[in-house]
Amino acid sequence: MRDMEEIISSSDISDRVKELGKVLTRAYANRRMFVVGVLNGAFIFTADLVRQIKVPIEVDFVRIASYGSESTSSGNINLTKDIELDVSGKDILIVEDIVDTGQTLYYLKKHLVKRNPASIRVCSFIDKKERREVDVQVDYVGFEISEGFVVGYGLDYAEQYRHYPAVYHLKSV
Ligand code: 5GP
Repeated sequence: MRDMEEIISSSDISDRVKELGKVLTRAYANRRMFVVGVLNGAFIFTADLVRQIKVPIEVDFVRIASYGSESTSSGNINLTKDIELDVSGKDILIVEDIVDTGQTLYYLKKHLVKRNPASIRVCSFIDKKERREVDVQVDYVGFEISEGFVVGYGLDYAEQYRHYPAVYHLKSV
């Protein structure tokens, strides 16, 4: 097994997801909430988060491939699965795993705005600001981390570790 250190426990995740659920329930009262989960990394966060939101929600997913090395994202971004439901006039909440350089989110927002939603906001499980390249707004953040490559709770390294219930810093990457 690789050298890894737990940095966010599963109980801390669960507490934070409940808090975010309360904040989002208040923020989206009387709005037409449409969650867009970003596969693959945000599949667990999306599933946990929507169960803490107490307003009507529609849920759909996009899948985005970003071709870089296994531990870095790159500007070479490809949408390999689009949303299939109609979002026009609805209030989109993009649910992301990590915002790092911001390139993926910038691309996705530009793509979704063409579908004429009423609004687009972003909720990211982790905000990692140290390598930000583009100025994209992240409206709701689970946890901020300053550096390093992390896995678990949906996040992978070479497709491994997504099923770990906590978040770990992968030291040798
Ligand atoms: P960005 O386009 O903001 O640089 O990259 C965002 C994507 O890169 C995330 O959705 C995630 O898939 C991947 N990524 C960035 N940092 C990490 C990390 O520390 N761990 C993992 N597993 N993926 C990361």
